[in-house]
Amino acid sequence: MPKDIDDRFKKFGTVSFTQITKVNDFIKYLEEGKVEGTKCKKCGQIFFPPRADCFSCFSSDMEWFEVTGAGKLVTYSKLQYGPVGFEGDLPYSIALLDYGKYKVFGRLANDVPENEINIGMAMKAVVNKLPNGQMNYVFKKA
Ligand SMILES: [Zn+2]
Repeated sequence: MPKDIDDRFKKFGTVSFTQITKVNDFIKYLEEGKVEGTKCKKCGQIFFPPRADCFSCFSSDMEWFEVTGAGKLVTYSKLQYGPVGFEGDLPYSIALLDYGKYKVFGRLANDVPENEINIGMAMKAVVNKLPNGQMNYVFKKA
């Protein structure tokens, strides 16, 4: 289904979202400086990374919401080996933030000193522009 392939996703430089179609507005929001997920209008289920279809009630009636405020650092892990395409970024740390109703997976900003990282600390997701023109989001201290 070529019409579902949107090359804006080539600009996204952190996590492979290629299995997700129809949610390419994610990149549009990154360009606006916003990290957004989707919420099912029918049952209220929240998705991050954004999904176009609800796996809870199978509705495709979704709306976008902005990931704002701080989440709690649940876990993180320093990677020595990266997925194909991200080897040049190594080493970096991936992490999971708990926002209460949803969790956000991503990477820690390189400028967060490792000795200041604590499980449970408040962090926020911010849009990060990469030197090659790609974009991602990273977690910084809130
Ligand atoms: Zn639903």
